[in-house]
Amino acid sequence: MVSKKLQKAFNDQINHEFSSSYLYLSMAAYAESLNLPGFANWLKIQTKEEQGHAMKLYKFVNERGGKVELQAIEQPPAAFNSPIALFEEVLKHERKITVLINKLYETALEEKDYAAQVLLHWFIEEQVEEEAAASSILETLKMAGEKGHALIMMDRQLARRGQN
Ligand code: MG
Repeated sequence: MVSKKLQKAFNDQINHEFSSSYLYLSMAAYAESLNLPGFANWLKIQTKEEQGHAMKLYKFVNERGGKVELQAIEQPPAAFNSPIALFEEVLKHERKITVLINKLYETALEEKDYAAQVLLHWFIEEQVEEEAAASSILETLKMAGEKGHALIMMDRQLARRGQN
């Protein structure tokens, strides 16, 4: 049985994951508006992954005899200035999620919920991947620049996500 305190923390994190999904979809729409289908592809896969994260937490709460309570999702920003600004936002966002996952893990420790701790190990590892991926794309964009040929090459690279 999940404790009330941990249930609340899990429900909050479910909201953060769906909010992330919604943010990435808004970013994808921005990329579509710039005619960058590869960027949009990468971001739409991210959207689906975040829904998957939310559903992992949803499943856990139910399996542990808790009650999922969905919360309102905030409106995401619609414009991001440039492709570099967009990936700066992605990295900033994932760093924020890492802090939230770590806090959730601390609550699982306080509540001595070992099953929750095991589940959250997956999320802790996932955040290492999320930050590394965002950081790598951002660094490449900064190096190559976000105009003309460089941007087209980057768009082609991001188009390949999910194809293999
Ligand atoms: Mg996530």
